[in-house]
Amino acid sequence: MLIDTHAHIMFPEFDEDREDVIGRARAAGLQHIVNVGCGAGSSALSVKMAKDDESGFLYATVGLHPYDALDISDELLEEWEKWILADRKGGGERKIIAIGETGLDYFKSNVDHERQKFSFLKHLELAVKLGLPVIVHNRAADEDCFGLLKQFSRDGELYKKLVQDCGCDENEMEPVRAVFHCYGSTLEFARKVWAAGFYTSFTGIITYPSAKELREVVKEAPLDKFMVETDCPYLAPQGHRGKRNEPSYVVETAQKIAEVKGIDFERLSKIATENTRKFFKI
Ligand SMILES: [Zn+2]
Repeated sequence: MLIDTHAHIMFPEFDEDREDVIGRARAAGLQHIVNVGCGAGSSALSVKMAKDDESGFLYATVGLHPYDALDISDELLEEWEKWILADRKGGGERKIIAIGETGLDYFKSNVDHERQKFSFLKHLELAVKLGLPVIVHNRAADEDCFGLLKQFSRDGELYKKLVQDCGCDENEMEPVRAVFHCYGSTLEFARKVWAAGFYTSFTGIITYPSAKELREVVKEAPLDKFMVETDCPYLAPQGHRGKRNEPSYVVETAQKIAEVKGIDFERLSKIATENTRKFFKI
């Protein structure tokens, strides 16, 4: 009973056998897949796939990866807001459950840092305004990511401004909820992330023999502040390393977390799923 909290099964890597991939995820005992948008196109696809899936197995998110930060615009944000509001009015279960992935990548993205920050900020505004959590991509940008998130926390200036602008009181608008997806920073930074109330989510990287430091983070992660994900088609866990990753492989990562934490796998899965349901409100 696990949820893959971060997959990209709308990617062309899955065009040939998408239904089989979803079938294997169900067979592996997954309850849901959060199919994460990371560009204007993949976000639209994510929403379409979740809407078309009557079984409710797939959830959608909308966001621009730091690689695509140049695509941020008022039009795009308005479109997403429209989709999210329509999704809520539908009467059925909500399908669009988070904003992201968004964030900052100072390692690989070609986009100027200021522009990335602007895009991230716009995502955070939308998320807080609509009461949705944020999926954060952070690479080599610990302090800037954290700083912006703090701005939208209870005492943050930008959070206070949003509350003021909407004319509501603080009880009506929650501060930001965020997960550092594919956590890959230091233990010291992770402690800061947890202390601020944010989550860390772990991919197959934690199963790699070389990832000793990261397993220290896994070991210390508070039981109510972690989630598990594949980030497929990338980052297949050790047992499938070098191949295309897929949601069913999240089990291997969860097994490693259970082993590192010294917790029975069934119990670990239950806790990870509870954390996921609480974080996304599903
Ligand atoms: Zn991703």
